[in-house]
Amino acid sequence: MNTSQSVQPMQSLDEWDDFVAVRYRQDKTEDQFRDYSTDANPGVTEFYRQNHAQQTVEFVLAARTEFLKLNRGKKSIWEAAEYLNTLVDDSDPDTDLSQIEHLLQTSEAIRKDGHPRWFVLSGFIHDLGKVLCLYGQPQWAVVGDTFPVGCAYSDQIVFPEFFEANPDSKVPEYQSLYGIYEPRCGLDNVYLSWGHDEYVFNVTKNYLPEPAQYILRYHSFYAAHKHGAYRHLMNEHDEQMFEWVKKFNPYDLYSKGADRPNFKEVKPYYEDLVAEFFPAQLDW
Ligand code: FE
Ligand code: FE
Repeated sequence: MNTSQSVQPMQSLDEWDDFVAVRYRQDKTEDQFRDYSTDANPGVTEFYRQNHAQQTVEFVLAARTEFLKLNRGKKSIWEAAEYLNTLVDDSDPDTDLSQIEHLLQTSEAIRKDGHPRWFVLSGFIHDLGKVLCLYGQPQWAVVGDTFPVGCAYSDQIVFPEFFEANPDSKVPEYQSLYGIYEPRCGLDNVYLSWGHDEYVFNVTKNYLPEPAQYILRYHSFYAAHKHGAYRHLMNEHDEQMFEWVKKFNPYDLYSKGADRPNFKEVKPYYEDLVAEFFPAQLDW
């Protein structure tokens, strides 16, 4: 394995999304959710091995310092989407699903169900944080299920055995139930593993209603929104807002098989929608 392969073990970021969709396939029972090993492929498994070993408190704090200054230039939502779309998966000619297409399939499914405009918008922008990959970040620091760092790892996190290799697992302070946090302190006070959720939340938070902020920020926090873990860190308000995160998740997971949206046809709708909430440019 050469260096670039070991840093980017998946052929594309979609491999992780596909893995999660299979893990939570709708015809599966709760027990079968846990039995994901059979669905895993070596790239995704290696990806989780790296993610769980390297997402430490120290890494998360450093990434936040580096990226949350939002000093990587101004871009419109459209420029960010086009930029993200340059992340093409040339390994698999059969799945020419561009990144924009996943965003549109998610948002169009939400729109068809008659949800509020901010909810549709959340679907359309939820993965724009994946531009982190284009900043040269390794896959394990862009995608993957997110989880709190600085406290005990829940056994509801996928591949929990891989935390053994995380230096934080040897720090007693980080391995108590609450770790560096207070009981029910609220997720806003909790550091989650670093990735595209937290980044896009920070870029857009000033312009979105709070349920949309929660959707962007916690859509990969499967241990909490799918398995009910980490309630001891969440407050009453988080619990309420997570109803929206849960409502969003099926659109993210299951809209892939849907019709391919005709981008040209729907673009005017999205241009209006984006302009309704966002200024011409945002700090990224
Ligand atoms: Fe995502
Ligand atoms: Fe997504």
